[in-house]
Amino acid sequence: MNNRAVVLVGKYFLNFSMFLHLPVSFMIKSTIFKQFCGGETMTESEKKIVELSKYNVKTILDYSVEGKESEKEFDKSCAFILKTVENASTHKDIPYAVFKMTGMARFALLQKVNEGKTLSVEEQNEYDRIVDRVNSICKKGFELDVPILIDAEESWIQNTIDAIVELMIERFNKQKAIVFNTVQLYRHDRVAYLRTAISEARENGLKYGIKLVRGAYMEKERERAEKMGYADPINKTKEDTDRDFNESIRICIENIDIVSVCCGTHNEKSSHYLVELMEEHRLSKTDPRIFFAQLLGMSDHISFNLSHAGYNVAKYVPFGPVYDVTPYLIRRTEENTSIAGQSSRELSLIRKELNRRKALKK
Ligand SMILES: Cc1cc2nc3c(=O)[nH]c(=O)nc-3n(C[C@H](O)[C@H](O)[C@H](O)COP(=O)(O)OP(=O)(O)OC[C@H]3O[C@@H](n4cnc5c(N)ncnc54)[C@H](O)[C@@H]3O)c2cc1C
Repeated sequence: MNNRAVVLVGKYFLNFSMFLHLPVSFMIKSTIFKQFCGGETMTESEKKIVELSKYNVKTILDYSVEGKESEKEFDKSCAFILKTVENASTHKDIPYAVFKMTGMARFALLQKVNEGKTLSVEEQNEYDRIVDRVNSICKKGFELDVPILIDAEESWIQNTIDAIVELMIERFNKQKAIVFNTVQLYRHDRVAYLRTAISEARENGLKYGIKLVRGAYMEKERERAEKMGYADPINKTKEDTDRDFNESIRICIENIDIVSVCCGTHNEKSSHYLVELMEEHRLSKTDPRIFFAQLLGMSDHISFNLSHAGYNVAKYVPFGPVYDVTPYLIRRTEENTSIAGQSSRELSLIRKELNRRKALKK
C-alpha cells in the first residue's frame, strides 16, 4: 500500500475489473478487502465485532454499497440500513448506525437540488422518497435509541445532504443527539458552518450530533474546481485543514452541554488534542457524548491505546458484497499511498517499535 506504483496499477486493475465484471473478487477479498472490511454480510462481520470488543473497541457497521442508480436498489439499501439500526439496538458493542446518502439516492438528483434547479413532478416525487427513506432510518434510531451518523460526500451534493440532515435533526434531536451530521474540515467554509449549526441548535432547544472528519475526496474536489473554473472549496494547505479540524474539536467541547461528537480521525495530534481538552474541561473518559473513531485496518495504534486508556473508541467496519464496496476500497488505497498519508506514518512507527524491541533483546 505504501508503494505508489503498486497502488496505481492496482487501482486501474480494480476499476477495469469492475467495469468488465471480471471474476476477481476472490483476489480482492483475500487482500485489501480483508484489510479494510468486516465481511460481505452483517453475520460475516460479527467475528470482527467480537475481536475488537475484546479490547473494548466498539464497532460501527457500515453498509458500504455505493454508486447505485435504481429505486429498487435504494430501497434495498434502506432496508439493509434499517437492519443495522435494529442490530445496533441489541448489541452492546455497536454505539451508532451509519449510512451514506448516495446509497439511497441518485447522485444526479442530489446535485440538481444542490444547484437550485427546478425539479419536474417526477423528480420531486423521487426526492420525497429519498427524504422518506432517511426519515424511516432516523425514526427507527429515535425509537430504538441508536444514534445515526450520516456521512459527508462531494461538495456539489453536500448542501442537499445538509438540508435533509438538518430536517432530521429538527425532528429527532429534541432530547438527545440521535441524528449526526458530518463536517469535512478540508473545506474552508466548514468551521463557520459548524458554528452556525450549533448556535441554531441552541436557539431552537435542540441537541446537536456531529462527526468531524478531514475529508476523503480532496483530489476529486480540486480537479473539478479547476476544470469548471470555480473557487477551490478545499483549504490551501494541510496545515489549514489541521487547524480547522482542531478548532472544530474545541468548538464541540466548549458546547458539550448540547453537542455530541464523534471524532473520526487517524491523526495522532488531533486525537491527543481532544484528550487534552477533555481533561481541561473535566469530562469523564467515558462521557457518552464523546467518541473517537477510526476506520478498520487503519491506525490501530490510536484506537487500541485510547481504548486501553479508558476512552470511548469505535472502528468503522465496512461490509457488503466485494464489488459493491470496491469504490470505498479504492479511496482507502489512495488515502494510504500518499507520502503524508497514514500508512507511511504507521509503517515508520512499526519500524521504530521493532528497532526498540530488537535493541532491548541485545
Ligand atoms: C470514523 C471515520 C468516519 C469517516 N467519515 C467520512 C465521511 O463521512 N466523509 C468523508 O469525506 N470522509 C470520511 N472519513 C474519511 C476521512 O475524511 C479520512 O480518514 C481523512 O481524509 C483522513 O484524515 P485524518 O484525519 O485521518 O488524518 P490525516 O492523515 O492527518 O489527514 C489527511 C487528510 O488531510 C487533508 N489534506 C491532506 N493534504 C491536504 C492539503 N494539501 N490541503 C488541504 N487538506 C489536505 C485531506 O482531507 C486528507 O485526507 C471518515 C474517517 C473516519 C476515521
